[in-house]
Amino acid sequence: MRERERATKDYKLIPARSRQKKNLLMLNGYTFAQNHTPRLWYCSQKRNGCKAKIKMSDNGYILRADTDHCHTPPMYYINKLGEYRLYYKLIPSRQKKNLLMLNGYTFAQNHSPRLWYCSQKRNGCKAKINMSHKGRILYADKDHCHTPPEYYVTKTGEYVLMKSKKC
Ligand SMILES: [Zn+2]
Ligand SMILES: [Zn+2]
Repeated sequence: MRERERATKDYKLIPARSRQKKNLLMLNGYTFAQNHTPRLWYCSQKRNGCKAKIKMSDNGYILRADTDHCHTPPMYYINKLGEYRLYYKLIPSRQKKNLLMLNGYTFAQNHSPRLWYCSQKRNGCKAKINMSHKGRILYADKDHCHTPPEYYVTKTGEYVLMKSKKC
């Protein structure tokens, strides 16, 4: 009975968008995707080694949440239409091009102003972002094969690259 007392519906479902086949579940800022069975949800960063998962009851209550994430939560904001959008920011660069930061990962513009590739592209990472001309993220392939770079922000708002984080 104790499990039942702790059962909660304190999570949000993020409806799937065109390119995403499945709904996402958001709990404490982290997103989870359904996997194999409708009662098991795994962290969206599962492929990067995160072991967090949620066990759901048939009527949609969280029975058990293993929320030991090895990474920071993705950043979403809710727009006026109530849609979830990934929050990103542009980092001014001393080099020629700006960087785009999404969930702690950095992307550089490549060939087209609407296509951004992970800064680790040269090391084999295939993550990329497809941007609308209005600057909205249409599609984000967030399957990085590495941990995010670590930046700190100086008093003047400059981003300084630290070391890579280990999962
Ligand atoms: Zn996680
Ligand atoms: Zn990457």
